[in-house]
Amino acid sequence: MTTIKLSERLLAVASHITQGAIVADIGSDHAYLPTYLVQKGIIQKAVAGEVVVGPYETARNSVFRHGVSDKITVRLADGLFAIEENDGIDTVTIAGMGGSLIATILEQGKKRLQHVKRLIVQPNLHAKAIREWAVSNNWELVNEQILKEDGKIYEILVLEKGVISYDDLELLVGPFLLAEKNSIFREKWENEISQWTQVLSSLEKAVETPELVNKKEQLSGNIESLGKVLEK
Ligand code: SAM
Repeated sequence: MTTIKLSERLLAVASHITQGAIVADIGSDHAYLPTYLVQKGIIQKAVAGEVVVGPYETARNSVFRHGVSDKITVRLADGLFAIEENDGIDTVTIAGMGGSLIATILEQGKKRLQHVKRLIVQPNLHAKAIREWAVSNNWELVNEQILKEDGKIYEILVLEKGVISYDDLELLVGPFLLAEKNSIFREKWENEISQWTQVLSSLEKAVETPELVNKKEQLSGNIESLGKVLEK
């Protein structure tokens, strides 16, 4: 039985899981994350949820091959509907998808989060959609992490129940990441600013409509406020 070797990205997600947790990993195509967590003795047990048949079968076979079938239940289900009342799930992980899709999964299945204490999500892009969902649904950020692996930058958001509000900049870049402003954060947002600047200059040549004016204002507002943040 081989021990799972996780990517840096999934190792970072794993680092936010508390000892003894019962985890639902949603979108678990190989069930690598829950398998690692079981092998390391970090979690009691897990559900690995997957909506597509092929990856679901891959996850089931992998769990069997790694000898962790007694601790990991693999379910073919859409989003949080993989979680059942008796599972006792207290932690949900959703990694490797777009932020809007993660926010949709959270919104559609939020009734299944009643007993969940911690959400650990790793959007590949558009983390803002998750922060906005969190604020509207009484979840607050308790930690954030940014990392770079194989040339790609990833954010991890750790949420627990709580009532909070964030300003527009915090929603966009993350309050914890903004407070830290490390070199990866700077690299990410310098890249975004240069892309927005290119988009803005191409929009300058387009015929003006109310939507276009709106879009341009939003882009220049973001460029200005982030520019100030990165100056400091
Ligand atoms: N979580 C793993 C990781 O981070 O490496 C796998 C990421 S993979 C790119 C995304 C997986 O999520 C795919 O296997 C996809 O089928 C699954 N997925 C997408 N939408 C889903 C949903 N609504 N419910 C469950 N799984 C979903």
